[in-house]
Amino acid sequence: ADVIAVVPAAGIGSRMQSECPKQYLSVDGKTLLEHALNSLLAHPAVSRIIVAISPDDPFFSTLPIASDARITVVNGGKERADSVLAGLQAACSAHWVLVHDAARPCLHLDDLTRLLAITATSRVGGILATPVRDTMKRAEAGRQAVAHTVDREALWHALTPQLFPLELLRTCLERALREGATITDEASALEYCGYHPELVMGRSDNIKVTRPEDLALAAFYLTQLAN
Ligand code: C5P
Repeated sequence: ADVIAVVPAAGIGSRMQSECPKQYLSVDGKTLLEHALNSLLAHPAVSRIIVAISPDDPFFSTLPIASDARITVVNGGKERADSVLAGLQAACSAHWVLVHDAARPCLHLDDLTRLLAITATSRVGGILATPVRDTMKRAEAGRQAVAHTVDREALWHALTPQLFPLELLRTCLERALREGATITDEASALEYCGYHPELVMGRSDNIKVTRPEDLALAAFYLTQLAN
């Protein structure tokens, strides 16, 4: 399939309490962003990646991967969805687009292969996801107390990469943004427009580095990946 990847990396990572945005924190000698980009480029179907960075990002251009011919940089936007749309704008020709978080450094090639396989059968696309393992509680409105237990049988964690037909994703993101829908991943834009992306079973070590303690975990998973 004809696939390009978009990596939104224009966030400021305020939850990490670090000086630089979390995608530029280093693990095992490389930034999270470089690990994420390398994991996508490891697949022969991914010939090009568009990275959306903040217009005043001083970090990206210093990375060795910045001079890789397969990588194109664009300015990101206010929200993640704006950054992804900016990436899609630069991606015109491809039929399928993979969107992957800059802060997910531990993607395995077999997960990416399993996700890409849906291009043979799906017209809507799909996402890597894992079933939730913990018991899930809904809190009472405005109060930190349990209202009830949510049936976890049908609950999944949405991961990335997420894979969609490029024009469909563009249309859905534009409409969701225009209509003020809450969009926390690309699939939510499709759902908002009535589509049902596939859930593709992914590995639970494909973590998004969000809190400081996640860095050590990512470092450990990366040593496992190398073996
Ligand atoms: O904050 P969160 O972890 O959900 O961010 C997910 C990804 O979206 C990060 O890689 C971040 O850099 C990116 N992002 C972006 N543009 C924004 C906000 C977030 O590219 N305006």
